[in-house]
Amino acid sequence: MPNNKNIFESIPFIDLKTQQSRIRDQIEKAIINVLDHNLYTMGPEVNKLENNLSLFAGTSHTLSCSSGTDALILAMMAKNVKPGDAVFVPAFTFVATAEAVALLGAIPFFVDVNPDTFNICEKNLEEAISIAKKKNLNPVGIIPVDLFGLPADYDSIHKIAKEQDLWVIADAAQSFGATYKDKPVGSLAELSCTSFFPAKPLGAYGDGGAVFTDNKEHMNIMESCRVHGQGEHKYENVRLGMTGRLDCIQAAVLLEKLKIFSDEIEKRNIVSKRYNELLKGKVQTQFVPDGYNSVWAIYTVKVENRDLLQKKLRENNIPNVVYYPIPLSEQKAYSHYPSTDIPVTKMLCNKVLSLPMHPYLTKELQEYICSYI
Ligand SMILES: *Cc1c(COP(=O)(O)O)cnc(C)c1O
Repeated sequence: MPNNKNIFESIPFIDLKTQQSRIRDQIEKAIINVLDHNLYTMGPEVNKLENNLSLFAGTSHTLSCSSGTDALILAMMAKNVKPGDAVFVPAFTFVATAEAVALLGAIPFFVDVNPDTFNICEKNLEEAISIAKKKNLNPVGIIPVDLFGLPADYDSIHKIAKEQDLWVIADAAQSFGATYKDKPVGSLAELSCTSFFPAKPLGAYGDGGAVFTDNKEHMNIMESCRVHGQGEHKYENVRLGMTGRLDCIQAAVLLEKLKIFSDEIEKRNIVSKRYNELLKGKVQTQFVPDGYNSVWAIYTVKVENRDLLQKKLRENNIPNVVYYPIPLSEQKAYSHYPSTDIPVTKMLCNKVLSLPMHPYLTKELQEYICSYI
């Protein structure tokens, strides 16, 4: 047992080491198995992982792929997104949501978010759609983001999408393992995309991602796009695609991690509940509406005096990060794209602060962290 001082001097923001030590033997065996069978891309682990992910997400199909960003691109390829099409995305998210749209030559249209859930604001979405139409843009779809692991309000979003004849692709990069009205993330939109970047709730030991769908036609197109728009045989190319496969070693690692994922989700919920109680009355925490279960990818609070608090936390070796400091619509690479007014996004960019979050965070450490807030 290390003494308390050592524990407090090396607090990880996300503790992948403890998780690894829990399943190290199984992971080693799984990797050695890949080395033995010698198939590094579409080996047996990839197919097995896709089947197990479908069971977890409650969908008929899962397409594993090279990253969460590629998952978004592949899903939009299935929807035949074309240059000039407009796609609504929140202004308060990780850059990849808008980047995937822009890489296809389409136009990300930025929408403001809700001050309590931090997810896309339905009122503002409706406003954005009417602005887009007035500007003679060609709106085709909406990409809600389940920020920090909390599902967006899919019922409201689907209602708007239906009225306006738009598709919905869920950016569930941070929320795989969460639920919305008893339905698992993965099954909340026609196409849902997640990421297996190591720091996400279900992380590989490298990059990876997946698209979940019940639509066989979409699945066929994405399977083709994942390998350069392959047709009936390997060297027939019927559409544009990419090198989008998940590699076999990552699939092997993910299969082992998936076995303990439900247990880790429970642990994440215990940790977040403890934070909520310790921080009650001190700072505002992300609001989780009734019927929603977050997977707590990131634990984020709103604070008034962020610079000062960050300094204090740093002085006491408590890691903390600002997700995200700049509205996407104000980033250099995106400032020429259309946007509604985004007062809430701007407020959040100035106030949010994320604290250490992972399934293995102890009560003792949480009390230590919260004593400085
Ligand atoms: C991480 C993330 C992505 C992209 O995933 P990668 O696997 O890093 O490409 C997309 N959207 C959101 C909201 C994310 O957090």
